Order: sequence, then structure tokens, then C-alpha cells
Amino acid sequence: MRRAVNTLSPVLRSPIFRSTPRPRYITYTAAAIFPFSLFSTTPNMSQQFKVHKSDAEWQAQLSPEQFRVLRKQGTERPGSHEFDKKDSPGVYTCAACDAPLYTSKQKFASGCGWPAFFDTVPGAVLRREDNSNFMSRTEIVCANCGSHLGHVFKGEGYDTPTDERHCVNGISLNFKDE
Ligand SMILES: [Zn+2]
Repeated sequence: MRRAVNTLSPVLRSPIFRSTPRPRYITYTAAAIFPFSLFSTTPNMSQQFKVHKSDAEWQAQLSPEQFRVLRKQGTERPGSHEFDKKDSPGVYTCAACDAPLYTSKQKFASGCGWPAFFDTVPGAVLRREDNSNFMSRTEIVCANCGSHLGHVFKGEGYDTPTDERHCVNGISLNFKDE
């Protein structure tokens, strides 16, 4: 008489396939996910920047409003900053660390109420996911010091080479004439 087990393929008869109970799988998955989500976000993020200062050091250097926007992901009131409508030639630098971020040639009139750029000085701006305030957006930060600049939006239909809008708080920037 033939035994049923002989009809199974070698893979199905292997110890792994037969002996992995579901509860062990769930425990393993939870253990793999939890340490990642708890410990691998903000604390490590700040270590990657060349310029790294404590909140107290930033507060001593920046105005209260600059600190709120640059270091606490704040947003200035739309239409409130002179850089929104500025169009003279020059370079926009990070108000926190002075790194060059955007040029006037990359700026365009978006009408959104904040300075808008379609591109950056190469490598000067980093992007990261921002799910705050019940929205899914892409935050942009200075690659040299990690300070918050604003958000970037794509595919809005602006007539620019990239169809991207770097929506930057004017207070996050300084301007140097060319
Ligand atoms: Zn910076």
C-alpha cells in the first residue's frame, strides 16, 4: 500500500515547511519591526549632518521665528516674506549654516505665497517623508545642517524644467547678491 507522504514533493516534506507554526512567524515579524520604528528615525537622522548643534546653541544663534521654522518644522505666514517676490540675481543660502541652497535662476513665480524654486544647488537639499498634520508631504531640509526649509511638490503643471516646486520659507534663507 502506498503512503500519502510519498506523493509530496521534497520541498513540502522538508522540516522548515512542516514545522513553522504561525505564532512563531508573527512573533518574529513584530520583533523585527518594533526596534526599527522606535529607534531608527529622528535620533540617527541628526547625526548625518556636517553641522550639528543642540537646540540651545541654535536658539542662541537664530531669532525665535527662525528657530521655530528652521529647527521645529514651522511654517511662516504666506505672502509675509520679501523673498517671495524677489527676482534680483544672486544665491539663496541656508539661514542657519550659510550653505548655498538655491540660485535666483532656479526661482520662479508660483503665486503660492512662499519663495518657489524648481531646482537646487546640486546636493544641497535633502528630502524626507513628512506625515504630520494628517498630510503626506515631502519635507526638504538643508543637507549641511538638517534645518527645515519647507516642502517639495511635483506634477503641479508649472512651466518649469522639472515640474517641481520647492516651497521654501523665506525666513529659512539669506540672500547674497551676485
Ligand atoms: Zn543649513
